[in-house]
Amino acid sequence: MCRHTLSVDWTGRLSDCDFNQMLDLGVAAGLPRHIRDFDPVRFAAGPIQTGAHCFGCTAGAGSSCGGSVVSRVSSEQ
Ligand code: SF4
Repeated sequence: MCRHTLSVDWTGRLSDCDFNQMLDLGVAAGLPRHIRDFDPVRFAAGPIQTGAHCFGCTAGAGSSCGGSVVSRVSSEQ
């Protein structure tokens, strides 16, 4: 989710995903923090706020997360 969308709370505050929103973890410093200041170019190039909870997002195989913590390449293919 964090790679393609944002979460917006009822006050307009932006988070990288709904997990971050529930943890009261806003977007990275230097990025617009409110929907009124939204700028897609800045978000496309900006960092994503992450934490230990991201491991619970099952690294690209979980609910809505399209991210990956580690990329594994199999030599058996
Ligand atoms: S990896 Fe998952 S929990 Fe972490 S920021 Fe991305 S969507 Fe949110």
